[in-house]
Amino acid sequence: MRACIAPARGVTSNADFTRRAVVTSAPNGARVAPPAPIMTNRAPSPPPNYSLTIPSSTSAPVPDVPGSIFFIGTATVLIKYRGFTILTDPNFLHRGGRVHLGYGIHSTRLTEPAIGFEDLPDVDFVLLSHLHEDHFDREVEKRLDRRMPIVSTPHSSIALKAKGFLSTHALATWDRVEVKKGAARMTITAMPGKHGPPVVAALLPPVMGSMLEFDNGDGTTFRLYVSGDTLLHEQLREIPRRYPDIDLALLHLGGTRILGILVTMDAEQGVEALRLIDPKHAIPIHNDDYTVFKSPLSAFERAVEAAGLSERVTYMARGDTHRFGGARRTAELDREPASAPSVR
Ligand SMILES: [Zn+2]
Repeated sequence: MRACIAPARGVTSNADFTRRAVVTSAPNGARVAPPAPIMTNRAPSPPPNYSLTIPSSTSAPVPDVPGSIFFIGTATVLIKYRGFTILTDPNFLHRGGRVHLGYGIHSTRLTEPAIGFEDLPDVDFVLLSHLHEDHFDREVEKRLDRRMPIVSTPHSSIALKAKGFLSTHALATWDRVEVKKGAARMTITAMPGKHGPPVVAALLPPVMGSMLEFDNGDGTTFRLYVSGDTLLHEQLREIPRRYPDIDLALLHLGGTRILGILVTMDAEQGVEALRLIDPKHAIPIHNDDYTVFKSPLSAFERAVEAAGLSERVTYMARGDTHRFGGARRTAELDREPASAPSVR
């Protein structure tokens, strides 16, 4: 049993993660535009603000195999696609475990994670929506390898750096990081998120959504949106304007209430988000795991059905694997024993 998971394949604290100017200088000092983006099936995205290189043991072409989402619990999933393994919002507390959400407010976990922290496969980086204990618990804080790259908000990055994490990578809203691993390429762009109504949001950690864009290697990209803990709010409208064709969305729902105030989307807002963001397919996560989650997954399922959107939603139990993309370019759900994650 490992005391902590290590970054995959020898990621070290000096991972190449450097701010890159959007406009670069030519040798003669003249300012030049960045190289034209490769042609894709979509309008070109803005150039990245940063790049992050994950060391890889191979530079062989990335095999065209389906991607997978392995649902661990809360907002913790393992995303595997195009050679990358990404862990989101790591929370491995057991049923009965308590989290502190600030200002003396606690909540108790009602569910078991599908696997233990020690069962994780090698991970390339952690994608963290915000620094709340139901997304980054105190055990994870103790056990996660200090060299693990963590992509998150500026607020979380400062706090994690102070806790000794050596590879923190801050993204302000709409900032974009390009991640390279051997021949594989992907980008992450920070999406707007609002963890509560105006006054309440100021008391909670800032949150980001994420747009993950995987280069399929054939001129197309696979777009995966992760909402983060957010309410439905005005700024979300900008997401479908900039990203009109999202393949898959992971929606943090649960209708979290702190002191009676709604701070994450409930069933009704989840349906509205589905309509607004308009992904081809969506998976609700962050449901039923804590006592502060007041809107059950079953309520979202009913609301989706009433809205006639059932075909676009997959409901995952903890331990399920959802497959997408790859040669089949289809989505399907496999139910597998939680003790044997196929994402390893
Ligand atoms: Zn949460």
